[in-house]
Amino acid sequence: MAAGLSRGRPCPCEWIVYERLLVTDAIKLVGFDGDDTLWHSEAYYQAAYADFEAIVGEYVDLRELALRQRLLTVERANLALFGYGAKGMALSMVEAAIRVTEERISAHDLHRIVELGKQVLRHPVELLEGVREAVEAVAADYPLVLVTKGDLFHQERKVLLSGLSEVFERIEIVSEKDPETYAAVLARSGVKAEEFVMIGNSLRSDVAPVLALGGRAIHIPYPLLWLHEAEADFEPEPERMAELAAAAEVPDQLRVWRQRGLFRHPARVGSGG
Ligand SMILES: [Mg+2]
Repeated sequence: MAAGLSRGRPCPCEWIVYERLLVTDAIKLVGFDGDDTLWHSEAYYQAAYADFEAIVGEYVDLRELALRQRLLTVERANLALFGYGAKGMALSMVEAAIRVTEERISAHDLHRIVELGKQVLRHPVELLEGVREAVEAVAADYPLVLVTKGDLFHQERKVLLSGLSEVFERIEIVSEKDPETYAAVLARSGVKAEEFVMIGNSLRSDVAPVLALGGRAIHIPYPLLWLHEAEADFEPEPERMAELAAAAEVPDQLRVWRQRGLFRHPARVGSGG
């Protein structure tokens, strides 16, 4: 008993042992998405789309044609065969162009569309503002995994050119970002979902599947978003998700969760008596 306390009075100096709590709510792995989270991507796809529209517009009246929606329908139908990425986009553009022009498009213009895909594959890798500093700050406290989906060659190139590959303990290039994929990533890292935080620009791919597993997620919206990624059907979990304006705010958010975890389940072991 502390000096100066009289017997029988409650002790004002209750103490709490945090050891168990650190195990319960600890963050053991932080995941980052690649495209439009670490580096710019969607702007290159949208530039390619604008050029595609100009080419197709030489054959059909775009005012009467929901071209973007027609292309999206073709892309979605092809996802299971082509997967995500610029190669699948280019092939879907070729297919959509043939369909909407009723096979009148010339080989020359089909060649131009193929070139649009190649341009996207060759785009420079430019990190978003403040990303390098934020990722390095998080890496000082937690192991990191990069979870990015899309064409394997293209994603490998972007990871290499980003200059960030050394910061990540694991790099996972996946074909889909659903709960099953994340569960497999976590199993490979030996981490439970509640010990994992995923950070990304897509509610559909980076937030919803991780919340569904019981993990936490940080959403950092990017000004541009592919229509397919814009559709996310899930229940927001305010306790387990945060929306931030920029990567620079990530270290503070992780600190908030770490501290909230400490106080959520206090294991009171002594009350001075
Ligand atoms: Mg992304």
